[in-house]
Amino acid sequence: VAARPDHAELRRIMEFIVGQPISDRYVPLLEEELAVEGRDLRAPEWDAGSLAPDRPMRVVVIGAGMSGIAAGHRLGQAGVDYVVYDKNDDVGGTWFENDYPGCRVDVQNHMYSYSFAQRHDWPQYFSDRHVLVDYFRRVAEDTGVLANVVLRTEVASCTWHHDEDRWELVVRAGGVERTEWADAVVSAVGQLNRPRFPDINGRDDFAGPSFHSGAWDHDVELAGKRVVVIGTGASACQFVPIVARDASELTVLQRTAPWLIPAERIHSDVADGFAWLLGRAPFYAQWYRFWLFWRGAEGMLPAATVDPEYPPTERAVSARNDEMRALLTDYLRVMAGGDDELFEQLLPDYPPLSKRFVLDNGVWPATMRQEHVSLVSTGIERIEADGVRTDDGVLHEADVIIYGTGFRAADFLVPMQVTGRDGVDLHERWGGDARAYLGIVAPSFPNLFFLYGPNTNIVVNGSIIYFSECEVHYVVESIRMLLEQDVRSMECRPDVHDAYNERIDAANRLRAWGFSSVSSWYKNTTGRTAQNWPFSVLEYWEQTRRPDPDDFVLR
Ligand code: NAP
Repeated sequence: VAARPDHAELRRIMEFIVGQPISDRYVPLLEEELAVEGRDLRAPEWDAGSLAPDRPMRVVVIGAGMSGIAAGHRLGQAGVDYVVYDKNDDVGGTWFENDYPGCRVDVQNHMYSYSFAQRHDWPQYFSDRHVLVDYFRRVAEDTGVLANVVLRTEVASCTWHHDEDRWELVVRAGGVERTEWADAVVSAVGQLNRPRFPDINGRDDFAGPSFHSGAWDHDVELAGKRVVVIGTGASACQFVPIVARDASELTVLQRTAPWLIPAERIHSDVADGFAWLLGRAPFYAQWYRFWLFWRGAEGMLPAATVDPEYPPTERAVSARNDEMRALLTDYLRVMAGGDDELFEQLLPDYPPLSKRFVLDNGVWPATMRQEHVSLVSTGIERIEADGVRTDDGVLHEADVIIYGTGFRAADFLVPMQVTGRDGVDLHERWGGDARAYLGIVAPSFPNLFFLYGPNTNIVVNGSIIYFSECEVHYVVESIRMLLEQDVRSMECRPDVHDAYNERIDAANRLRAWGFSSVSSWYKNTTGRTAQNWPFSVLEYWEQTRRPDPDDFVLR
């Protein structure tokens, strides 16, 4: 058996694989991600039973999606008593709920997967949601989390009792409410699952069936129907080409054109030879994942960075961003196939990366070029019994309307009622502008942790699973701090929270999404970028290694 490489050797191999030097700062993170030889370096190195045998520590995790499963797994490894509640009929969160035709991940699967549950046999580079739901269910099963998941159960409210240093939860199942207690609560409710319907006059006047992409009505037959779709975001761009196969007429109402990024393999099966390598060549799959992770670590962040000297405009925020615009514009020109009117419609009028791009292998423009498909960029005046009337007075007749209008992403934790210390209501405190320290903790809400909370979305680099793993690590280390220091509660200091948020806001203003005035779900109703993490994936990893006791009031 060959000797295990030491750190220096491992680093040399890493540099060989990525073809460039790797800085000292990155190496420990990369070793963790690599999990070479299946060694899970993120597993907690402590155990609640040994650390504080007499101390009750019951954790309620809300949500059994990607983040909740990771939280359950790590809490279980640390021997912490936990339960995961989920309102749905199965685990998988957004991947379970979004079952519209064509739904698939647009981050490469060999990276969009847990570091502790790497899989080499993904059938496609970007798998469809069935494969993902199966993956999450399998991980939940294999890790033992599933045994602690209680489905069809919703947490209606959480109330902090300062005298007891515990949360009181109202839990609803089968129409019956009950009360229970938790020493800590982890919210893993996700961002992209509560449908947002647009505020368009006459929405209820439509005579036919209508539904949202996030709650697809599979009973509605689309074959031979006139279908109107509102929205051209990532969801619509996936289901519209499929709907076009069935509909007799398809009208797509576009308010803002998405930037398309060419991705030839978005629908492709993993090639046989490559699948062989991944499955048979020793460690090939791990190094492939590693390479994807490295390439995506900074990803397109440099092209999203505002150069104040450039000067930035609503066209481009830097020379690099402008180069990207030129490349993507060329792609659209080619894809429009000589149809100048279509090209003008497909061409966005804001800097690339200011809002979510769409990966495309040519299918979106090709769909728009079909005879029975119309892309309409005129504003919507109102919805009527027979269809949608646009500002130019034209009625786009419809048998079915499909809303691809996104999610209430900025309404974190809605509709749960959360009451913290001194009766502070979380939603009143936020006033539509959710903030947290590291996206995880907030003042007045002791022992409450958010996963995929405010400003933890990475949009041009990395995988959101990696981010959740960092958050989970911080949460588990926080529980450890409570047990180790024998304190009952930890509450983030307001000054720490505020200074952090100022830093986040300043950095987001220097990214394309913060600079541009284009509408996007990255921003909340106040106009603040409430979703995005503006820094590198390394910085988040470094900041979530362990909680700093000085950041908290401990009691
Ligand atoms: P979205 O990006 O928020 O897109 C919503 C669309 O509806 C936009 O085109 C928006 O136009 C339009 N819209 C909203 N209100 C409107 C109104 N009143 N009138 C006309 N148009 C209106 O939502 P999404 O497409 O569901 O995607 C949300 C996010 O989910 C994605 O960005 C992505 O992060 C994630 N997602 C991921 C995948 C994947 O990984 N494969 C797939 C689907 C979704 P404006 O642009 O003008 O606001």
